[in-house]
Formats: sequence, C-alpha cells, structure tokens
Amino acid sequence: QFQESNEVDALIILGLIATIMVGMLGQNAARIAQGGDPSASWRPVASAIARLFESLGWLGTAAIAAHEAFYWIHVLAVLAFLVYIPSSKHLHIIVAIPNVFFRKLGPRAGAALAPIDLEHAEHYGVNTVTQWSWKNLLDLYSCTECGRCQEQCPAFLTGKPLNPKMIIVDARENLYKTVRDAPAEQRRDAPRPQTLIGDAIKEDEIWACVACGACQQECPVLIEHVPKIMDMRRSLVLEESKFPKEAQGALRSIETQGNPYGLPRAQRTDWAQGLGVKTVEEHPGAEYLYFVGCAASYDEANRAVARAFVRLLQKAGVDFAILGSHETCNGDPARRIGNEYLYQTQAQQNIAAMTAAKVRKVIASCPHCFNTIKNEFPQFGGNYEVVHHTQLLASLVKEGRLRPSKAIDGRFTYHDSCYLGRWNDIYDPPREVIEAIPGAKLVEIERHRKRGFCCGAGGGRMWMEEKIGKRINHERVEQTLRTEAPRVATACPFCLTMFRDGIAAKGAESRLQVKDLAQYLAESIDGEAPRLTTTSG
Ligand code: SF4
Ligand code: SF4
Ligand code: SF4
Repeated sequence: QFQESNEVDALIILGLIATIMVGMLGQNAARIAQGGDPSASWRPVASAIARLFESLGWLGTAAIAAHEAFYWIHVLAVLAFLVYIPSSKHLHIIVAIPNVFFRKLGPRAGAALAPIDLEHAEHYGVNTVTQWSWKNLLDLYSCTECGRCQEQCPAFLTGKPLNPKMIIVDARENLYKTVRDAPAEQRRDAPRPQTLIGDAIKEDEIWACVACGACQQECPVLIEHVPKIMDMRRSLVLEESKFPKEAQGALRSIETQGNPYGLPRAQRTDWAQGLGVKTVEEHPGAEYLYFVGCAASYDEANRAVARAFVRLLQKAGVDFAILGSHETCNGDPARRIGNEYLYQTQAQQNIAAMTAAKVRKVIASCPHCFNTIKNEFPQFGGNYEVVHHTQLLASLVKEGRLRPSKAIDGRFTYHDSCYLGRWNDIYDPPREVIEAIPGAKLVEIERHRKRGFCCGAGGGRMWMEEKIGKRINHERVEQTLRTEAPRVATACPFCLTMFRDGIAAKGAESRLQVKDLAQYLAESIDGEAPRLTTTSG
C-alpha cells in the first residue's frame, strides 16, 4: 500500500507529532511533579511520568526547569510543523477539506469527461501541469499517499507501469518543480522547464489505464484520477498524434465506418434479420429507442445477446424501435483513447438522428453506450431518459411481464461492469434478474459491487494490445473460478468478450460458462436462447 510513498516525509512528520506529544506530556508531568495540580487525577499518563520525574529528584521547584524545557520543546515542534506542512505531502491536512467540498457534483468526473471547445481551446488536453484547472491542482495537493487507490487498480495489480497514487504524486512533484522551485523568470514565461508527460509521467502509464474508476472510488479525499489521465491522452493524441498503433485502426474504422470493428456500415442491422425489429422510420413514435451499439451490431457473440434481448422485449410487449443505419458508434472508445474530435463527431451524429426521430427514452445494452448517452450526450444537447437493459429486464420481471419459469439450477455469479456499477451505481437490477431465475443461487466474486475488478476492456483498452504484465481478463477469470460457480453473467458486451477470451485462454470452458444476463433470462423463459440466423460480419 505504501510502496513508492515518500517515507522520509512521513518519518519527519511522525517525528514532529511525537515531539509535540512528548512536549505536552512532559509539561503536564512537570506541573504535577511541582505539586498541587488539581487535574492530576485526570491525567494518568502524565501522572505516571511525574512519578518518574520524582524518582529523578525533580520535585517541587526543581520541576519548574523541566516544565519550561518541555514547554519550549512543544512550542518549537508546533512551529516547525506549521512551517514544514506547506512543503510536505501533509498539506492534505489543510487542503483535503476544500477538495472534498469542491468535488464535482452530478455524474462522476470520469463518467462524464469535460468536453473540449475544439474551435477556441488554447491547448488540447494537458501536457504541462499548469494547464490543469485549480481544482485539478488542489487534487494533487490533497493526496495523503495512503495507497488505497493503488490497492484496487487492476492495471497496477497485474504488473502494469501504472500506479494511480504515483500519477498524483509525480504530477505534484512536477508542479513543485515547474512553479514553486523554478526560477522566477521561468515561472512567468513559457516554455515551462518541465513537461508533465515524459518528465513526470511515462506514456506507458497513461495508456495502461482502463478508466474503471476503482481509484476514485477508494480515494478518501475524492481525488479524480481518470479525467487527469484522459487529459494526458488527449494531449498525446490531439497535439502529438501519439497513441498505440493498434488503437489507430479502431479510430480510423470509427471515422470511416462508424464502428471500431472496421465492418461496413451497411451490415449494422444484419443482426436483426428475421426478428421483426422496426427502425424509427418504420415505427415513428415508439416509446423506446433501443441503441444497439457496435458490439451487438457486429460481434458474433454479442449479436446473439441483442437477439435474445429483443425477443424478451417483444415477449414483454415493450414498444421499441432502432435507429438502424442512422446509428453510429457512440464515440466512447474515441473519447477514452483521447480523440475528442472524433468523439464529438460521433456524438453529434447520433444526437441529430435521435432528435430527428423525436427520441425521449433510450435502452442501451452496453454500459459504455449507456454511460455516454446518459452522462455525456447532454453536453451536446442530447437529453434522454436512459435505461440499461438489465434495469429494464429487472422491472419487466418485477411487473410480471416476463416470467422466468424454467430452472437453471446451481451457483451463478455476476461480473460488475465498471460503467454500470462504479460509474453509475447500478448494482442491484442485474442481481435481481439472476435471483428471479428458478434454481439460480447467486454467489459473489471476491471483488464485486463498488470493488468490482475491470475485465480489462475499458478506457479504449478493448482496442489495444496488452503487452505488459498479466492480462487483466485472465486475472478476473481466475477470481471468478474461485467462486466455483459454473456460470457467470455479464451485462456488458466488452466484458463478455474479455471473459470468453480469458476462459478460453485458461482452458476453463468445462468449468465456467459466460453469457449475458439477457441470454440466461431468455433461457429461463424460452428454455433456449435464440440462435443467430445471420452470419454476415
Ligand atoms: S481508472 Fe482503473 S486502471 Fe485507471 S488508474 Fe484508476 S484504478 Fe487504475
Ligand atoms: S487513494 Fe487518494 S489519497 Fe490515497 S494515495 Fe490514492 S490518490 Fe492519494
Ligand atoms: S468492459 Fe466491462 S468491466 Fe471492462 S471497463 Fe467496460 S464495463 Fe468495465
């Protein structure tokens, strides 16, 4: 937990605190040893020390010198403490309170990244610490170096170079070097002597983040790590055109085909063939828009999820339509990789299509679509009532519009998606669906709910190679296998893909089956999940 924390700083502070305490106790003990102190019976520790003084012969007036000596030790230690605090990590004692007070309200900072004004911005992202807002700098001063964030970070725990604590600590050191310790003329004039990326934080650290929010969740002083990491990605991508080369393919595909899979736009609705799903043009005024997302539109395993889900919607009599060929990637991968320009293009395209179709309510079966449409589209005028498919399924089951009747006996576990759980506080509905399946017994993975462990695909990492350390999805599959549940339900297309890959890599197909929650529910209603009839893509 304290790996890489500043131990010297901690020891100096502990030494000063100990000196202050010794000074105070010694002072009280000397007063008791002088005799006649009416508060002696309330001070057992000082009284015990007073007895020691008495054994040394420091009695009556002889104890006055000891009293004065301890008084000055106490006063000088307090003064030294006050002088030392502003230049030490213990500044958090003072700044943590305003930092908590000025925290971002509404959607969490990593759930809704701040948009860049692409036409007027002086810089895209952050490569010099002083480009951050005052609140970001207050975050840096507030870190206690407690290491709680590092203990939950999936990147750190699987041997990646990223440690969220050190992102904050190194940025703070960089701030000191850039501003406080720099010569006066450099403090005023650009260029700054130190850049943030490269000098303080390495590119590998920046790219290792899966934007899962586990660090922010744990931080006792509510520091916002994810927007800072995303700011640095924005600088690398938009100002220097630097990013992992695999990500380039995904970004180019989003730009040209409207999906990161690189498959033709024309195939976007192939998954729905034969299901009687209507587009908003064929069925204007539908109560819900089902925003399908790229994974469910193009990825074979996730197309099966979309088909199972729409069969459930039809069975429950939910009035819905899809955008069809007007739907394009919601832009989340582009935004989390750092390409804000591409994100805004995608978001605006979707919002225009949704506005034209007079959409008010949206269902998303992908937590990344859900999060972006719910928390980020309002930044561009797209305001909708958004539900995740697990929320809708849970309420349809509760209302009796879906009645799971066929038993799926045995232990079931559920993998919390970060974008559903931590970023949007949706923990119960998926569990309610599992519990509604006859015979299913829900057991939890050791890291679950707020402490869920990312599958490794967030923050655009789905589209990058994982070359350093252990693969995060392998670690998550191992954690899941330890529950001894033969089934794990997911609620996110990327989680499903990562689990499928992880289970195959571990050769654990006979011990662990993974499906989306909608598929398990469909099995319990239909007896069998609907099969994919089209294979294009
Ligand atoms: S968001 Fe997740 S991966 Fe990124 S630093 Fe925080 S805990 Fe680590
Ligand atoms: S949890 Fe917060 S305070 Fe603790 S080390 Fe991490 S960033 Fe600093
Ligand atoms: S793919 Fe799933 S677990 Fe991974 S970041 Fe996205 S929501 Fe979280």
